[in-house]
Amino acid sequence: MTTPTPPVHPATFTADIVHTDRRFGAEHGSLQKPIHTAVQYGFDRVDDLVGVFQGTTKGAYAYARQGTPTTSALEARLTRMEQGVGTICFATGMAAITAVFLTLLRAGDHLVCSQHVFGNTNSLLDTLGDLGIAVDKVDATEAENVAAVLRPDTRMVFVETVANPATQVADLEGIGALCRERGILLVVDNTILSPWLFRPGDIGAGLVVHSLTKSIGGHGNALGGAVVDTGRFDWSGYPNIAAPYRKGDTKQWGLTQLRKKGLRDMGASLSSQHAHAIAIGAETLSLRMNHASDSTLQLARFLESHPAVGRVHYPFLPSHPQHGRATRLFAAGSWLLSFELRDADDTLAFLDRLRLAVKSTGLGDTRTLVIPVAPTIFWEAGAEVRARMGIADGLVRVSVGLEEPEQLLADFRQALDGGGAPG
Ligand SMILES: *Cc1c(COP(=O)(O)O)cnc(C)c1O
Repeated sequence: MTTPTPPVHPATFTADIVHTDRRFGAEHGSLQKPIHTAVQYGFDRVDDLVGVFQGTTKGAYAYARQGTPTTSALEARLTRMEQGVGTICFATGMAAITAVFLTLLRAGDHLVCSQHVFGNTNSLLDTLGDLGIAVDKVDATEAENVAAVLRPDTRMVFVETVANPATQVADLEGIGALCRERGILLVVDNTILSPWLFRPGDIGAGLVVHSLTKSIGGHGNALGGAVVDTGRFDWSGYPNIAAPYRKGDTKQWGLTQLRKKGLRDMGASLSSQHAHAIAIGAETLSLRMNHASDSTLQLARFLESHPAVGRVHYPFLPSHPQHGRATRLFAAGSWLLSFELRDADDTLAFLDRLRLAVKSTGLGDTRTLVIPVAPTIFWEAGAEVRARMGIADGLVRVSVGLEEPEQLLADFRQALDGGGAPG
């Protein structure tokens, strides 16, 4: 087993996560930030209540929709993990992405988005179109495809690090340089890799979004999302920041607008209970990501060598089109892979022969999850979108969990070999 030694994060990554709450002063010396359930906050002096609304009462909470001490503690952890200047948590990853689009873009603006994005993100782009925001979807594995569609009114470029399900790796360095040169906000969905394997701020992303439901929470027991500001984008020149939020430190302008317009007004708030579950999950992020990346690479190599398997998509396989980029930028390949059987007609029967891997909708759990992509999560999208996103009819997505890799490989082997002896 080769434990990856990430080049991209400080040697204190996990130490920071597990000691942040204590250093920020958790109540009664508690080593974990408690779950604060109060919706309302009270004040002894009316001046302090007034000050909450006028921004002069520091560190106070107004109403749980805008945050609680528990969600703030998780935000502080995430800010440190991405080495950013601030974070806002949301109820889900989709709520975080929606808030970014709806609060930072206006009718008449132009958005460039990778064509290889999470299915619901792709579907959300249609809603933006209906609202008068022009969207171009491009193959973001080459920065020149992004450059080709930029316009004077392009406000934002949105890409994923490793795309789900076919694992395309965006040209992160090229797009980062392009956006920096043109002063365009680059937003990177870093859900699949997590800040343990890659930090988008390093290539110039201004905002990083996460579905905390996946790598960071990691246990399939809580939904959550987050937007981290890396401090790399200069908000002072961004035309869509409303007057009341153009105050103080320019680095906070984007997050202030997101918190007020996106969280307070739109209301997709993360509960304290889920924030706590995610914060505890984050404590073991590096251990889980190392283990799952190692298992996934073993599984990818095994599948590629099996005669019943056609293409295998995993960025850390030398056969992957962006292998060089992935191994240069990422500490490891993470837990997502997909592959096609040579006989696509056998796909569903093969999945029924798996005994350990669970046929399931989701991603990023402690258990290995598998799904046939075309007839399920990409069914509504239709054949044309599937073709554009590189999704073959027989594509199987695997989200590798924490089982011992030997057992996982044995399960795939028996299912590929046609069932074998019951075990
Ligand atoms: C799951 C996922 C999302 C959406 O997150 P939810 O928490 O399920 O809303 C967004 N982006 C990527 C890459 C995802 O995998």
